[in-house]
Order: sequence, then structure tokens, then C-alpha cells
Amino acid sequence: MSGTTASPFPPASWRGIDDVVIVGGGLAGLFCALKLSPRPVTVVTGAPIGEGASSAWAQGGIAAAIGPGDTTQAHLADTIAAGDGLVDVKVAEAMVAEADQRIHDLLGYGVPFDRDLEGALKLSREAAHSERRIVRVGGDMAGSAIMAALVAAVRKTPSIRILEGFVAEQLRCDGRYVTGIVVRDLRGGLSARMLLTTRAVVLAAGGVGSLYEVTTNPSEARGEGLAMAARAGALIADAEFVQFHPTAVDAGLDPAPLATEALRGEGAIVVDKAGKRFLLDLHPDGELAPRDIVARGVHEARNCGRGAFLDCTKAVGADFPQKFPTVHAGCMTAGIDPARQPIPIAPAAHYHMGGIHVDGAGRSSLDGLWACGEVAATGAHGANRLASNSLLEAIVFAARIADDIQGLLPNHKVVAWSGEAVDEAPADADGQSAIMTRLRQTMSRHVGVIRDADGLCEALRIFADLEAQARHPQLNNAVIAARMIAAAALARRESRGGHQRSDFPKTDPAQAQRSFMTLADCSPMAAEAAQSAAMPHAPAA
Ligand SMILES: Cc1cc2nc3c(=O)[nH]c(=O)nc-3n(C[C@H](O)[C@H](O)[C@H](O)COP(=O)(O)OP(=O)(O)OC[C@H]3O[C@@H](n4cnc5c(N)ncnc54)[C@H](O)[C@@H]3O)c2cc1C
Repeated sequence: MSGTTASPFPPASWRGIDDVVIVGGGLAGLFCALKLSPRPVTVVTGAPIGEGASSAWAQGGIAAAIGPGDTTQAHLADTIAAGDGLVDVKVAEAMVAEADQRIHDLLGYGVPFDRDLEGALKLSREAAHSERRIVRVGGDMAGSAIMAALVAAVRKTPSIRILEGFVAEQLRCDGRYVTGIVVRDLRGGLSARMLLTTRAVVLAAGGVGSLYEVTTNPSEARGEGLAMAARAGALIADAEFVQFHPTAVDAGLDPAPLATEALRGEGAIVVDKAGKRFLLDLHPDGELAPRDIVARGVHEARNCGRGAFLDCTKAVGADFPQKFPTVHAGCMTAGIDPARQPIPIAPAAHYHMGGIHVDGAGRSSLDGLWACGEVAATGAHGANRLASNSLLEAIVFAARIADDIQGLLPNHKVVAWSGEAVDEAPADADGQSAIMTRLRQTMSRHVGVIRDADGLCEALRIFADLEAQARHPQLNNAVIAARMIAAAALARRESRGGHQRSDFPKTDPAQAQRSFMTLADCSPMAAEAAQSAAMPHAPAA
């Protein structure tokens, strides 16, 4: 490896690496690290903790059935209804039942959830929830407030060692056992690769939104965690189910600022450029219909030139800066005053229901590998996530993983780091950003809100080309994640939840099962589809 002797890696303070390595400094990773304390753990994260994470951008809050009259059964019923036939009921039941405890954990870490005059937690309502059950902070600042409290708690927990500026690239395995992880030190342009030998790896590396051209996610959300697990042979579940948020602000910014669902909860309406409300034609709940239905309505209105706008002028009006400061700032940056004018909106890739298949303890199909947060597929969301259930899922499963690891490996050991070159893996950046641009365009065009076999085969053909050109391991991981999403979307010949096929527009009861795929299953199928797309007049698969 070039430059290792001159590099300050590993830092002089390192004597070894803890036997639990958590990849990701978002809510799932940090909550897991705190729950494992006082056991020493190492958190590896590309961006500084709290940055480069969707968690810090969450606007709505966390769903928890803690209000008067609300029940976990009602929360479960709403979760199942949104999930469109694919929710794993046992998993979802456990998740909603643990919400109360986990919210109290967050309060213990200092999260300043909004309270009413009597000191009770204030609850708001979001689309497809039958009750007011979202705990929030400062209107739309839940994510940044939760992460600020957790980052402060982590920084003062001596058992947590944080490696910021280190990007995980590859799992190391011995048969079915994950034995370590290869990370790249990106600080100061060093680009040195190191092997961290561990007994447990927790992947909490977030979602896939940034594989799309229009997304609400930070650029770090490129499916690298999913791809690393897939390359090591782990089972990937439900990869085809990507949720598109219907109301991203359409002002040409990347990522696109989000106009939170809570605005529609407050009465904001979706209109076309003639000022006509159109969502009631699609669903009796109109603006509060499930996300996939609203996203499709907005997508179609834009596609046929009618345009789509979120009109908050009456429902929120002059209170906008106080009630929704984050959205207000995002709109003003884009030159839109949301108190006075309708906000132009577009659907944007927002959340991945699919990911690394895990069981109720967060264990993947590989020994020594756990996953939590958006990178994992627990089955709690089915084909479509209910708003504000993802932060909940992240903390519930992070806590479960901490318990599981503590039970399986009660004694902490310092394992090893290796300062030796692990292999020659060039981090050649030349021409690589053009590959990422092509990948993102392809995902939005062919693997987006509405899909069909021809487009998916074409996407797989393009990804095969891009894979051959990608020389950077991170980029390779991004292409593999994209390929798995497209292949799973091609395999599901129906429309359900976040997955809509114009060539199979109906939901097929015979396909009401979750999907499971390894990279080994995906590769021949992707190659065949790519080949059929390359042939003139390829028949639809
Ligand atoms: C704008 C927006 C608003 C949202 N609002 C809500 C809401 O109100 N309620 C709700 O429940 N959900 C909401 N969500 C979804 C929710 O925020 C995410 O699903 C959740 O925060 C995911 O948490 P996580 O810890 O799994 O991932 P993240 O918070 O994204 O963290 C992933 C971490 O992994 C790091 N990472 C990634 N790849 C690597 C690598 N190769 N090596 C090292 N580190 C890596 C990243 O830098 C980051 O630190 C929202 C999402 C967005 C984008």
C-alpha cells in the first residue's frame, strides 16, 4: 500500500481494536454503541459522527403509541396496512411494543422532545397514522436534536472509540464467519487500507437514496453496507422496495430539501399548476394517503405536464418560520417563500425498506454480522414504511443487537488491527464521478417510481458496463447495491407498496411474500437481463 510508512495510521493511541466494530455514525450505530457501553466498542464512520447521516435530517420524529387513547395494537394495525401485505407481524409487534422504552432511553440521553404545558410529550399526526403519535423536537428538528444529544453522549462515553474519516469497504470472512473488516483511511487524502480483525461487526451504514439522481438522502447513503454484506454472501431481503417521498422541494438542489409530511398533517394541500387538488381522485384520504400513492400521483401530474405543488399558504402561512424552521430555511435557500407561495414538489428516493436480512435479534445470515437501521431489512416495514417508523426501528434493533452481542460474547477482548497492506485496491478517482452520475441517472430513469421490464433490463445492462469501469471499491459497492435493487425489481412481477410496475400494474396475491436474494442468485439473472437489453428488439423479460 502506498504511503503507509509515512502515514499517521494507525494513531499512536491505538493498542488494538475492540471486538465489536460498528460501521456507521447515524442513529442506529450510535444508539447501539451507547447500549453496549460500558463494553468497549469501535465506531467506524466516513463522515464525523452526526454528519453524513440521514438521521440528522429527520424532520417528523419517532412514532410511539404513548398518547391517551392510543394503543400499540393501533400502531401495529397502521404499520401492517402501510406495508401492503408484506409486514412481518411478529417483528412489527415487537417494534411498536418497545417504542415507549426506547423513547425513555432517548430522554435519558438528553433528547429535548417537545412537551405541552403540563409537561407531557407533545404528539403530532402524520400520514396513514390513525392517531397523533409522533414525538418531535422544535417542530421539524427531531433528527438534528436527537443526533446532537446522542453525539454528546457518545463523546463523553469513554468506552466508545470513534474512527471518523474511515470508510468501510469490505468484510473479511472465514467460511460463514465474519472475521474482520477492511477500512480505508480517507483523512488528509491518505487513502490507506487497513484490516480490522473483530469478533462482531454491526453494519449501521444507512440507506441507498443517493444511488438516485433525485433524493432527500446525504451523499453517503449509497448502499455500501448492503453491498459489503452481499459480497460476503449475506442474504438480502426486499431490495426492490424503495420509498419515494412525494414532497421533496423541486428546486434543482442535490440532495433535495424535504417538505415534511407533517405539513400535510397540518392541512397543507397538493395542487397542480391550475390550483386543482388531485390526490382525492386517487385515494379517499387525499394528501394523507400512504406515501406510495401520493408519490405516484405527484409523479404522474409532473409527467403529464400538470405540475405538482404543496400549498401551505392557508394551513401554515405566516407561522411557517416558527413551526417548520428546517423546511422554511430549505425553501428560502431555493428562492421559494413557502408562507406565501406553493412549493414546487417532486418525488425523491427517501428510504429503503429492503436491505440485509436480519432476524429478531438483528443477526444477519452470516455469523458475526449484525445489521440495524436503514441498511437492515427486519420485515417491520413490509413493502412500504409507515412515516416515522424508521427511527423507531433503528433504536429498537440497535438495542436488541447490543443485548444479543452481550449475551453471545460476554467477555470483551481487544482483537487486532493490521497496519499491513491488505491488498492493492486502487482508490482511483479519475472518471469515477462520471460513473456515479450515470448510475444515479439510470436508477431514477429505470428503477424509480414506476418501473417496467424493458427499463430494468436496460438498467442492468448499464450497471454491467459501469461495474467493468469502476476502479474504486466504494463505487463498486454502489454499483452492486444498484444491481441488486434492479434485479429484485425485475423479479417481482406485480405492483405492491413502494414497487410499481407499469407492465404488471396489479397486486398479485400469489406474490405476497418477501423477496430474498444473494449476490450469487442476482449475478446470473442480472447478466441475462443485461444481455437481453443489449439485443435489438429485446423481448420484455
Ligand atoms: C430528509 C429525511 C427526513 C426523514 N425523516 C424521518 C422522520 O421524521 N422519521 C423517521 O422515522 N425517519 C425519517 N427519515 C428516515 C430516517 O432518518 C433514516 O431511515 C434513519 O435515520 C437511518 O438511520 P441509520 O443510522 O440507519 O443511517 P444514517 O443515519 O444514514 O447513518 C449511516 C451512517 O453510516 C455512515 N456510512 C455509510 N457508508 C459507510 C461506509 N462505507 N463506511 C463507514 N461509514 C459509512 C454514514 O456516514 C452515516 O454515519 C428521514 C430521512 C431523511 C433523509
